[in-house]
Amino acid sequence: MIGIVAVSHSARLGEAALELALQMVQGGGARVRVAAGAGTDADGAPVLGTDAVAVAAAIDELAADCDGVLVLMDLGSAVLSAELALELRTSDVPVRLAPAPFVEGLLAAVVSAAAGASLDVVAGEASIALAAKSGQLEDPSTEAAPIESASTDRSGAVTRTVVVRNPLGIHARPAALIAEASAGIDVRLRRLPDGTEASGASLSRLLILGARQGDRIELSALGRDAEGALDRLVALFDDGFGEGTDVDAVASGSVGAHAAEAAPESPPVRAGDVLRGRGVSSGRVAAEAVLLAAPVREPDESTVVAPGDREAEASAIEWAAVAVADQLRARTRAATGEARAILDASRLLASDPELVAEAADVVRSRGRTAARAIWETSAAHERGLAALGGRMAERAADIRDVRDRMIAEILEVEMPGVPERDEPFVLVASDLAPADTAALEGGNCVALVTQQGGPTSHTAIIARSLGIPAVVGVIGATGIPRGAVVLVDGDRGTVEIDPSSSRVTEAKAASLVVPFDGEGVLADGRRIPLLANVGGAAEAVVAAASKAQGVGLFRTEFCFLDRADAPTIEEQVDAYRGVLAAFPGQRVVVRTLDAGSDKPLPFANSDAEDNPALGVRGLRIARRAPKLLDDQLRALALAAGAESALVEVMAPMVATVDEARDFAERAREAGLETVGVMIETPSAALLASEMLEVVDFVSIGTNDLAQYALAADRLLGELGDLNDPWQPAVLRLIGQAGAAGRRWGLPVGVCGEAAADPALAAVLVGLGVTSLSMTPRALGRVAAALAGVTGEQCDAAAQAVLRAATAVDARAAAAAVLNGE
Ligand code: PEP
Ligand code: MG
Repeated sequence: MIGIVAVSHSARLGEAALELALQMVQGGGARVRVAAGAGTDADGAPVLGTDAVAVAAAIDELAADCDGVLVLMDLGSAVLSAELALELRTSDVPVRLAPAPFVEGLLAAVVSAAAGASLDVVAGEASIALAAKSGQLEDPSTEAAPIESASTDRSGAVTRTVVVRNPLGIHARPAALIAEASAGIDVRLRRLPDGTEASGASLSRLLILGARQGDRIELSALGRDAEGALDRLVALFDDGFGEGTDVDAVASGSVGAHAAEAAPESPPVRAGDVLRGRGVSSGRVAAEAVLLAAPVREPDESTVVAPGDREAEASAIEWAAVAVADQLRARTRAATGEARAILDASRLLASDPELVAEAADVVRSRGRTAARAIWETSAAHERGLAALGGRMAERAADIRDVRDRMIAEILEVEMPGVPERDEPFVLVASDLAPADTAALEGGNCVALVTQQGGPTSHTAIIARSLGIPAVVGVIGATGIPRGAVVLVDGDRGTVEIDPSSSRVTEAKAASLVVPFDGEGVLADGRRIPLLANVGGAAEAVVAAASKAQGVGLFRTEFCFLDRADAPTIEEQVDAYRGVLAAFPGQRVVVRTLDAGSDKPLPFANSDAEDNPALGVRGLRIARRAPKLLDDQLRALALAAGAESALVEVMAPMVATVDEARDFAERAREAGLETVGVMIETPSAALLASEMLEVVDFVSIGTNDLAQYALAADRLLGELGDLNDPWQPAVLRLIGQAGAAGRRWGLPVGVCGEAAADPALAAVLVGLGVTSLSMTPRALGRVAAALAGVTGEQCDAAAQAVLRAATAVDARAAAAAVLNGE
């Protein structure tokens, strides 16, 4: 803790400045002494001036329990007394005299010291305290202090977007509240869209932000309890820092008519806006947006239950746990597959005796209300999970879900959950709890959009198993106006608000699941097997029910996303058999672990990498951990031996012929006969012919092939136009691989998203592709497109796109050949 001595010529000025400063830290925690005036005159009236002895005494007093002392002075002449006090003091803690404005400096220093900052930081805060005022007055003669650099690696930071709702914006008091809520956590605030940034702990820099009512602020926090800090900050912003919120005023500035209904933590969005996130489940649909009910609010901390009432209060927790477990049990019975497993896990959590007993103890020992006790106990459990990182951290949503259900039960308020609708709708939420996502089964929800979440979140898993598009990590999602029509593109990761009616019609047509009769065949009778992409047994069952002719891509890494340790051979055999069993006697292409980049596995990718997409991912992991690959190949051979599916194995992220040869040797040694590699790098595409000298087939991963050919991160919605398989460079690379397959008479599959594009299917066939593997929902539409064209037309379309210079030209050229457009 840093102490502060305020040296003033006037006792009244010193005390008044102190009173103002202490108002900024209502929670206390600041140690401040005022050394003011030069005693009294003969009449007892205060004499203006400063007294070195009084300053030294104040320093010594603070030194007893402070790690350092900052001295602030009101007028230049006070500096002499302060300097003399340094000679007179008897203590030896570090002392710094700050050349800071007295009032602003004192405010900034007090807030920063109360947040536990070091002497350097507190002194720095005080010194730049005038910059905010200069900025407000736009005084060109006073350069604003440079804002703290944002150069720290913040890749693990969690972010939220909020709107400044109080009429006066971020002035001193809100800034102090922000600093208090950020204490001990690395929090940054960035004003959108201009990007001016401030540390949450710095009163001065927060003031320099100049944030006014209606401004959007991105909050980011790093490290332990980052989520907790953001929760506190979001609550402060939503509440207008206790100064009132004039939502209509916010809305009238720049937003549409629905703004006031939007969930508070995001700025409302307007018709025509396109929000971007991460597409985690493919498909395109357009439907009305329905926002998930507001989450349960944090129960009041200050209410203390009288000792005599605590037993009854504690028993409310037990009753709530039983009631919630019952509700979840009922929902579990109605659910199937992954949804059922997730609900069951939540039910177990609700009846977890440890959680219930700990919460009841908090009531008994500290007199917290039942609701508050559950809140606090869950927070501790949540932190424990967050500390484990990876997919365990994402399980924190399970705890929050059960917590909210129990609190709603106790407070007898509306249960959080998925609304029921008779019409198709897109569910929009900050994040989805497992029980929410599971409740979607069989309902009218046709797509999911969330503000939080990653590729392994429940939203992603459930959306994939339900076969509905989903986009997660969409900044601004909860600002989508209720009732707006949104077009969700799970492949590109975009959400268009109130798009044109032609786009809606097009998306609606695209979202219709055309039945598939189980055979991909051209008009001239040539067969093009249409296969499914799956990530586990549940998806394989869906795929088989959709009449997929086999599996063209089994993404094995999806089975183990939550594993901290490598799965055993037995566990792998079980997981693989689950998929193989769904396709007896049919082709199943199993891809070895494609860990890394957007799908890191804790047991396979230990080091942080600057460029993970270009790093040790996919087959490259075998360089470091050959046993991981050999064990997987063994497990797969065992699973293949136990099932009747025709198993083929392929490696992801192959770049050289040596890698392909090495992989083929290992796979064959493990007992797997049919071995292939994925064509995902331009190098592999250019060397496809040589690859096919050492493997039995290739399968083109157009998602990565486009990413690497165009040097455009496939996760960046902004670069969606580059990550387009219609880009001529990608088509020519596919053409190289297709030609190599024709030369050797060997299979060339496509298992990237391009395979699901009906307009591209014929082109791919013309380029030499012999099978297409896709999300099961797309099978019927691709089959229909192929059934209308002959092999000759496919070849002509391929020749036409190979001459195109742009993606637009390529599309037009194909349409001209195939549809006569
Ligand atoms: C691809 O890159 O096209 C592919 C099918 O693999 P993934 O999407 O799993 O990287
Ligand atoms: Mg890939």
